[in-house]
Amino acid sequence: MKSKIVKIETPGAPRPSPLAPPSSSEPTGIVLNIQRYCTHDGPGTRTVVFLKGCSLRCKWCGNPESIRFKPELSYEPRLCVGKKECGACLKPPFPEGAFYVVDSASDDKVKVNWDLASDVTEEMVALCPPKALSMFGKRMTVNEVLDEVEKDASTYRNTGGGITVSGGECLMQPDFVAALLKGAHERGMNTAIETACNVPWENVAKVLPHLDTMLHDHKLTIPERHKKWTGAGNERILANFKKAYETFPDTTFIARTPLIPGINADEEHIRAVLAFIHPHKNVIDYELLPYHRFGLGKYEHLGVVYELDDYKTPSDELIQKLQAIIDEAFGRTGGAK
Ligand code: SF4
Repeated sequence: MKSKIVKIETPGAPRPSPLAPPSSSEPTGIVLNIQRYCTHDGPGTRTVVFLKGCSLRCKWCGNPESIRFKPELSYEPRLCVGKKECGACLKPPFPEGAFYVVDSASDDKVKVNWDLASDVTEEMVALCPPKALSMFGKRMTVNEVLDEVEKDASTYRNTGGGITVSGGECLMQPDFVAALLKGAHERGMNTAIETACNVPWENVAKVLPHLDTMLHDHKLTIPERHKKWTGAGNERILANFKKAYETFPDTTFIARTPLIPGINADEEHIRAVLAFIHPHKNVIDYELLPYHRFGLGKYEHLGVVYELDDYKTPSDELIQKLQAIIDEAFGRTGGAK
């Protein structure tokens, strides 16, 4: 993905806590980051707004910092200058015991007690001079987000792009997402979301009236296997997809599968998804997202163990074979051999 990460910063001090109640009636949400110039997240060139909070626990997740709803601490040991030179996080206002040094003679970089560090705030991490400490996520208003996204309005006009709201699971913040998409339409922008739809139907129904394109994940076919690898069955998800296709015939849907050899990168799953989507003419494509391991470093920064260490990225040969089945189903040239 060709993209540029925008640091979300609000000038001026003091700043309210990221979880403080909003001061106006304008809807707010917890935003992880805003990524510009994305080309694989809906039509044209897009700005993707990643929200925090997810209702699944996919073992291959490449964005572990998006799973919890609350803003949370990130620690990058490489940047820590150590206790002798700094030591700011070993003193108040940081929670007692949240940071410690094991052997200050040979290595005086701090270590984190992740249980005690859950109370670390945005104001505290600002006290770390080299920015070894930072926060994933902050509360933003609809207009703060849209003002940022609108900076690339001319690119959207030239490419047919717009705003894509992603996660985590963006439909866990349905009022915020509905307001974002409605506001985007009012500003003349095309709208899309990326979702797994593991939420109550009411959440989906709030957002869909303001949506041009839904990119939605079909992760596994069999409910027990879906539960084993993502933490939840797929019955509610499939019911939501079907209802969405039927209730919103003018919305465009694109099915997607994160492709992981040994889990779901097989003909059986691809053909099952094709059979599910094919009766619905507003599902215009099915995309494969080959598994990668780019997010592994973030697990360390969050103090979380990555469980999928033995799994490999899919080979080009496998991707081409499965893609050919999809191309054939959509009547494109080539097809399955
Ligand atoms: S405040 Fe930052 S640089 Fe200073 S000791 Fe703590 S983590 Fe290291």
